[in-house]
Amino acid sequence: MIGILRIMFRSLWGLRRGIAFRCQQCGGCCLWPGSVYFTPDELSRAASACGLSIPEFVARYRLRRLGQDEWELVAARGCPLLDPENRCSIYQARPLQCASYPFWRSKTKNATARREFIRECPGSRQGPWFNTGEIERKISSDPRNNTF
Ligand code: SF4
Ligand code: SF4
Repeated sequence: MIGILRIMFRSLWGLRRGIAFRCQQCGGCCLWPGSVYFTPDELSRAASACGLSIPEFVARYRLRRLGQDEWELVAARGCPLLDPENRCSIYQARPLQCASYPFWRSKTKNATARREFIRECPGSRQGPWFNTGEIERKISSDPRNNTF
């Protein structure tokens, strides 16, 4: 009962003041249709984690070059880098976009965004509490977090 009340309090308070988070490795956020973006360094690390050269990685996962410093993996039906147990197969080498979730501007910018995050991510009902200052510091650690 106390656990349920704590979850309810965190959820309601979180809409205004912050979020709780500890990834439960359910793979849910990797199953959504969308895009995963890689810098050249991230691309190199991801390819290496797969035991592939960069051209092989680009060809296998059909990455699109968006510019000098950005590649896009279009995950129309979830990310192809998930393994059969819905775990990230390049977890230690995953790009910033994945590593910094949910500390993105789009997920934390207001109560509506935080409500959506709480609804969609089981990790929002677990783990340590991050207040707005801590969220802001995490987002500010890399300007790209403002774009996700
Ligand atoms: S949906 Fe949340 S708990 Fe599940 S893998 Fe993504 S971040 Fe982790
Ligand atoms: S690279 Fe890994 S963490 Fe990122 S979306 Fe794909 S499976 Fe998920």
